[in-house]
Amino acid sequence: MPIQEIVVATGNPHKVEEIRAILGSCGVRVLSLDEVGGPYSEPEECGRTFQDNAKLKAVAYAKATGRVVLADDSGLEVDALHGEPGVDSAVWAGSEGTRSERDERNNRKLAQRMRGVPPQHRSARFVCCMCLAEPSGVVLATTRGTLEGIIAESPQGTQGFGYDPWLWLEDVKCSSAQLVPAEKNARSHRGKAARAMVAAWQGLR
Ligand code: IMP
Repeated sequence: MPIQEIVVATGNPHKVEEIRAILGSCGVRVLSLDEVGGPYSEPEECGRTFQDNAKLKAVAYAKATGRVVLADDSGLEVDALHGEPGVDSAVWAGSEGTRSERDERNNRKLAQRMRGVPPQHRSARFVCCMCLAEPSGVVLATTRGTLEGIIAESPQGTQGFGYDPWLWLEDVKCSSAQLVPAEKNARSHRGKAARAMVAAWQGLR
């Protein structure tokens, strides 16, 4: 039977809306975890890759809710830092405090670690992996999207969240925090992973 509904496993309402806007286009109902009861205990994100973490979240919530679940994991990879902060992006400078306090500390750490790195070695990217799993724990699809840029010399822009002010996008000559939400969705790692999921999804029907 074709899948009619997907639960998006995230506590972040912005992500649910972003994913709903993209996946809604292929006629599937996108529900948040709040809309299907709970509370559900959060699995520990102990994977070594974005893909591992997306998979462990999708499988855990699919089993807990008894529904088809889409989970994602994302972060920043900086080449000069050998891929750091990577899967630790959210808590790179410690897990205490609010999300915006953590973002501020993370960004200070990034500025410190990148001090003196020459322009040609400042390449970096946002990465997003998504995983779709069914209640039995079987993985139906996994996708990945990236947004390539370079780490700026100073933060630019006020939109977005996390490391957005530091990722400079050469092709549009602005930072990720200077894009309005629709522009960011159109080119972002999450937008690309979600659109790839639509394609994978259509292959499953
Ligand atoms: P999560 O996928 O919500 O766990 O995000 C992990 C962390 O990666 C966030 O807390 C941010 O620090 C960073 N991150 C992921 N996506 C973005 C983005 O689009 N802009 C800026 N930072 C991001």
